[in-house]
Amino acid sequence: MTLTVLMNAGPWLSVPPPGYGGIENVIATLVPELRRLGVRVVLASVESSTLPVDERISVFPDGQFPALQRPYNQVCGVSQAHLAGVVRALHARDDVDLVHDHVEAVGLATLAAMGPDAPPVLHTLHWDLAKHPELYGNLDGGDRVRVNGVSASQLARAPRALREHSVGHVHLSTPLAVDADRRPAVAKGDHAVILGRINPGKGQDLGARLAHRVGFPLVLAGPVGPYHRPEDLAAAGDEARQNPDVRFFHEQVAPYVDGELVRWVGTVAGQERDDLVASARVSLFPLRWEEPGGTAVVESLSLGTPVVATARGCLPELIEHGRTGLLTTDEEELGELVRAGGRLEAGECRRVAAERFTPARMAERYVELYDRVRRGAARP
Ligand code: UDP
Repeated sequence: MTLTVLMNAGPWLSVPPPGYGGIENVIATLVPELRRLGVRVVLASVESSTLPVDERISVFPDGQFPALQRPYNQVCGVSQAHLAGVVRALHARDDVDLVHDHVEAVGLATLAAMGPDAPPVLHTLHWDLAKHPELYGNLDGGDRVRVNGVSASQLARAPRALREHSVGHVHLSTPLAVDADRRPAVAKGDHAVILGRINPGKGQDLGARLAHRVGFPLVLAGPVGPYHRPEDLAAAGDEARQNPDVRFFHEQVAPYVDGELVRWVGTVAGQERDDLVASARVSLFPLRWEEPGGTAVVESLSLGTPVVATARGCLPELIEHGRTGLLTTDEEELGELVRAGGRLEAGECRRVAAERFTPARMAERYVELYDRVRRGAARP
């Protein structure tokens, strides 16, 4: 019997995302593999999503990412409107076997409250939950609602109520776009790269300071709040500083960005992103938060670039110290490790990624979890 899954990607970005977009990248990678395994996928997203699926549900024409800068009640309004569309669609049909939800607690609570005839829900946790326990206060729905983590460390830190609803974790895979097998090997340059949202938790300020202290070139790639290009941020007035990531960039990171040793190139996508990472001597993750899943970490391995990082969150699960990267709990040591990390083997990183973090593995694991959720199984 064909399994029909409603994949809820939310209203924020199209799938695949135009550039930055962790959750949307995961969905864009997972869905083709699920379909290869015979799963029918109904995608709840925005109309501009181009991912091939069996059916679509959309409320908004385009990604509502810019609305995230608006006041909180307006953000919730967008979220609720999207969800109302999903719930309407679910009430109108009875062929959906399971909802795989990636959005947020608001969505989960609503799906949980749909009543006993609604399909079971598997909600993938994408955040560091220890920071936001209040988001998941009410998980009504009993055995119909289950959650999975994206790393064991994320689940271990999650509030108890969530752990009790958990069916395990699934490590993130490299996106299909990063097709390491078909890529010619790119010559290594001298630079380290930090790929990710510019944000205090991702620690670009620390990376930039160490680059100057130790003397290695560093490229920072990723958006600053809603700004994807340096010229857009430059053109934004002082009001832009209301955004905490913009303020963080101006106050903590920009003083080190001299355009020579340390550069901020904005959001990079596609081939440009892959080449930037593949040609780096190491990817640096100077984390100051407990990284829950780390797509950029496994992407780096897949592109043959070892990882130097703070040993926080899921990093010790993903990186084998001395083989695919170097980890430390000492922030100041990170700078020295950039040099040593460059001596690790690119081929070994690719091999480990091809064994452990493939889209096919991620999809097989999700099919197992779908089965467990549908059978109403308790924790493993
Ligand atoms: N990313 C990108 N361009 C950028 C910065 C990030 O394409 O300039 C992608 C990156 O390759 C990864 C995703 O955005 O696939 C970020 O996901 P991750 O789990 O690393 O971080 P988070 O979800 O916490 O932002």
